Amino acid sequence: MTELIVEDGVFITMAADAAPAEAMLIRDGRIAAIGRAEAVRAAGPGAEVARLSGAVVVPGLIDAHCHVADVGYLAAAADCSQPAAPDIATIQDRLREAAGRTPDGSWVTGSGYAEYKLREGRHPTRAELDQAVPGRPAVLYHTSLHACVLNGAALREAGIAEGQPDPPGGAFGHDDQGRLDGVVYEAPMFALFERNLRRDIARMGAGARGGLIEAAGQRLAALGLTAACDADMRRDTFGAFAEADAGGLLSQRIYGLVVHDQVDWLLAEGLQGRHSGQLAAEAVKIWADGGMSSRTAAISGTYPVPPHGSGILYFERDELTEMVREFDVRGFQVCIHAQGDRAIQAVLDAYAAILPPGAGNPRRHRIEHGGAMYPPLADRAAALGIVVASQPGFLSALGDGFAAAFPDTCDQLYSFASWQRAGLTVAGSSDAPVITADPRIGIRDAILRRTGDGHLLGPAERLSARDALALYTTRAAYACHREREIGSLEPGKLADFTVLDASPLEAEPGQIPGIGILATVLGGTPVYQSADIFPGR
Ligand SMILES: [Zn+2]
Repeated sequence: MTELIVEDGVFITMAADAAPAEAMLIRDGRIAAIGRAEAVRAAGPGAEVARLSGAVVVPGLIDAHCHVADVGYLAAAADCSQPAAPDIATIQDRLREAAGRTPDGSWVTGSGYAEYKLREGRHPTRAELDQAVPGRPAVLYHTSLHACVLNGAALREAGIAEGQPDPPGGAFGHDDQGRLDGVVYEAPMFALFERNLRRDIARMGAGARGGLIEAAGQRLAALGLTAACDADMRRDTFGAFAEADAGGLLSQRIYGLVVHDQVDWLLAEGLQGRHSGQLAAEAVKIWADGGMSSRTAAISGTYPVPPHGSGILYFERDELTEMVREFDVRGFQVCIHAQGDRAIQAVLDAYAAILPPGAGNPRRHRIEHGGAMYPPLADRAAALGIVVASQPGFLSALGDGFAAAFPDTCDQLYSFASWQRAGLTVAGSSDAPVITADPRIGIRDAILRRTGDGHLLGPAERLSARDALALYTTRAAYACHREREIGSLEPGKLADFTVLDASPLEAEPGQIPGIGILATVLGGTPVYQSADIFPGR
């Protein structure tokens, strides 16, 4: 039996009773006691003691919608982010280096650049990528993952030729002579990323696949995360998670949202449900429409900006209803990506058709994102008991684009305060690597609602700091059926917690992203430490 007392800290328990706590006793990976220091000491007289010198303890942070394997895949690519790679020459060096360790048949890959942060203030070109990596395909992913640059060989292999018209939902960049400059935007970029990821994972041995998941977990642990819903679990990535889990390499509890067309495989292999204490596949993921910043979210009007359509609805209402019914009968929680109001309407129709009146929503079927869930839709979702996994961090990262695409209703996008008043359970998440997985950014944005350019989107929809923190703790735990195990610091729950150097409830909201993560602890074991708080552990 191992016992540890954590004391001399400020404990933000997020428990409903909110009794003050000064110390916490951990026994065999769970919280055995939490409260007044003397009482906790009395409960564990022989325990080791870790003193926090006033550091702040919050429940382990939970990301309710994250593409974990994608985060790991990009972590293995050449780091072309700024300020690490301040100019295009440095990016070229990093790609050259990456070429040396990239197996034949895979594309040389870099990631993380933002053209506006580069000294040149523009995207690198295909010619510049060709100088670094001649003769074999190379790709450089933009930090937003909404654009990338291809070299000549990659353009050829992707079948992108001079004079080709822009594909639906995307565009190719051109130089001032009208030739392809190598930059690919939106839909064709997503397709390339997906294809490269699947192909590279298929080629990896078990060790490399587990390493990819391990790298993702280390990144998330450094951000204070102890649990994540993987929003895109498939046969190949489930295998990678299982290999990492078997090797003790998972730094989070992973709750899988299995892509709907992979469910037959999952059931045939008997893998539905809990695989271990750290890996589960209990939910199904369906996409009802596209994205807000690519203007492919299905809306009731038309977009005032290119491509000027009404977005894309992937399933007819009846088809969607039958899918939901089938997965519900098979015992799955259903999680449907829906961004535009037209898509949200269709999803609510499907849920209303299968949920017996008055019985609530026992499987906690979810809407992922819910961007344009305007007040009447939110009321309807609340009446059905629908859970929403949303991304406050989109407001600073993508909010200016939302304002351009939704000039009349942008103040009602991601209307967190209205949703809360309507009685909806809303879980916080990042959608990383679409934006950073950093929950501190999401907490700040839920409080401030400032766009990258500094505009205020929907000031009436700002949350208090405590409600913003709840998104990533108690609410996210509920969204993955784990509120009895994680999400708050209470006796009997798992000892998943994050140690911070300041309180997000007391800090100036703009300073929250600068709060230091001192340690991330999973089941009583540190999975990340920046300070030597738990020596020898
Ligand atoms: Zn997503």
